Parts: sequence; C-alpha cells; structure tokens
Amino acid sequence: MSIILKNVMKTYKSGEVETHALKGVSLEIKEGEFIVILGPSGSGKSTLLNVISGLDTPTSGVIMYKDTELTKLSEDKLTEFRRNHLGFVFQQYNLLQNLTALENVQMGSDIGKAPLDPEDILAKVGLKDQMHKYPYQLSGGEQQRVSVARSVAKNPEILFCDEPTGSLDEETSKQVLRVIEDLNRDLKTTMVVITHNPGIGAMADRVIKMNSGKIEEIIENKDKISAG
Ligand code: ADP
Ligand code: ADP
Repeated sequence: MSIILKNVMKTYKSGEVETHALKGVSLEIKEGEFIVILGPSGSGKSTLLNVISGLDTPTSGVIMYKDTELTKLSEDKLTEFRRNHLGFVFQQYNLLQNLTALENVQMGSDIGKAPLDPEDILAKVGLKDQMHKYPYQLSGGEQQRVSVARSVAKNPEILFCDEPTGSLDEETSKQVLRVIEDLNRDLKTTMVVITHNPGIGAMADRVIKMNSGKIEEIIENKDKISAG
C-alpha cells in the first residue's frame, strides 16, 4: 500500500501560543520502501510520523493510503485501519512484564488478520533461545527486538518506528536496526523509522531530512537501490 501526503500541516495550539510543527509536507512513500526520517530535535519528525500513521490528525492537507483518505475516516474507522494495516514501535519497549517474550509476541499476532508465527518471528530477530524469558531477564536491545517482533507478528503492511534505538548504545542500536532491515527485505514490510542518528541513513532507500516543520532534503540511497 503506497502512501501519499499532500501539503500536510499541523499546528498545535495551547492558549495564545501556536506551534507550526508541520508547514506543508508533501511526500509519496512507495510500497515496501524503507524510509528514514532524520532531523534535529523539534523539527517535526514525531508529528510527521503521528499524522501519517493516524495517531494524530493534521490541521490541513490530505493523507491517502491507496484509495483510502485517512483524513476522512471517523475515529472508529481510523482505529480499525491502524489495527488492520499498521504496526508501531516506540522508544519505550512497552512489553508486558508478566508475560514471556513468546507470550508478548503471541499477543501481537492475536490481533492480526494474517498473523505470522510468533516462534518464527522470534527466530528471525535472533531470540529463538530466549523466547521463554521474561522482559526483566533480557537486555534493552533484546527487549526492543521482542517489541519489534510483537509489532511485526500481526503482519502489518507498514511499520512505524519512533526513535526505536533512542535508549540503546551504538552497537545494540545497530542490531535492532539490522532486524528492521531484514524484516523489510524478507517480509516486504514498508518501514518508516525516525532517528536523530545520521548513521542509520545507510540502511534506508530514502532519507527524509526534516528542518523547522518542512522537508529540507530527500536523499535517495542509490547504492542500496542498485544492490537490491
Ligand atoms: P521532533 O520529533 O523532530 O523532535 P516534534 O514533532 O516532536 O519534533 O515537535 C515539533 C514541534 O511541535 C516542536 O516545536 C514541539 O515543541 C511541538 N509540539 C510537539 N507536540 C506538541 C504538542 N502536543 N503540543 C504542543 N506543541 C507540540
Ligand atoms: P492497535 O491496538 O489499534 O492494534 P497498535 O498496537 O498497532 O494499535 O499500536 C498503536 C497504538 O499505540 C495507538 O493506538 C496508541 O494508543 C499507542 N501509542 C501512541 N503513541 C504512543 C507512544 N508515544 N508510546 C506508546 N504507545 C503509544
């Protein structure tokens, strides 16, 4: 499912204060693409991810998923759309502490229409031997890989990741991102990943550089496209 954004704006109002977080963003995300959103703090990355994914509504502009205009859906339809088509990973792992890695991933697959096998997914993220452990028995990187596995288990068409490696060191971050990269390649899941780490751009098909609520630059990763 491709996504098209046309002149999307988002203004936050609190009392007298208006913040123009998105000042007219137009973009097309192709099916199966790996998109990285880069930019300094406050440039609008999270706002962009939230409005693309229907977690928040834009102030104006259009967001189309193939033939579905997201901005026209009712609250209920939007929730259903997210549940059926989209997956989310956040900086916090949000795992249920009283469930094992496998049980957490099973919960993810239970909400999917065409779910993937939880054990297979845990093997894919390199945690086959750890699947019966509880979150507190796992490192931060392992917990985030469980979290990615849980989100992917329902087999979403698009996975949105907001600073998925924000709490992890450089080396662990790479492992988590490699997992996201592998899933993009093997499952053809479209990936939209926010980061402030420019090194991550190398994994992407395209890097969207945000600055002051606008797209400053779009960098195509030609090496990756020709290699793929
Ligand atoms: P980034 O993810 O790049 O750090 P954000 O999208 O979080 O940027 O924020 C963009 C701008 O919008 C910032 O100026 C931020 O302070 C503001 N902002 C974000 N969320 C809210 C909110 N809920 N209410 C008011 N202002 C907000
Ligand atoms: P659903 O439960 O509809 O299947 P998902 O499990 O795919 O949805 O996850 C999306 C949900 O994540 C949103 O509906 C929202 O409640 C929640 N969410 C939104 N922002 C955050 C956040 N910053 N941290 C944790 N959870 C969030």
